[in-house]
Amino acid sequence: MSICCPKCGSFRVVKDDRYRTLGTAAGGVGGAAAGLSNIGVGAAAGAAIGSVVPVLGSAIGALTGGLVGAVTGAVSGAALGHKAGHALDNRHGRHLYRCRNCGKLFAA
Ligand SMILES: [Zn+2]
Repeated sequence: MSICCPKCGSFRVVKDDRYRTLGTAAGGVGGAAAGLSNIGVGAAAGAAIGSVVPVLGSAIGALTGGLVGAVTGAVSGAALGHKAGHALDNRHGRHLYRCRNCGKLFAA
């Protein structure tokens, strides 16, 4: 399949995945932030488990809870962002292309 630029007629066109890339990055960052906001939940769990050594338990719980939350949040956020970005890239069932010759962005 050969796609040509509607502006200059060049065949030097590449697929443009800007929204997918953007969505994945934004989702990852947002997910990590959301996960980190759950640090209090981790601290509470740690405090409950570490009732023998409360301070250590809370610290470890907060650290673990925050870390696990950030990682899982980033992964699920990135997946979600990728999906949303993919929908933007392929809206109307078409792909976005960019002309390497004149820089025109178009759907085909
Ligand atoms: Zn062009």
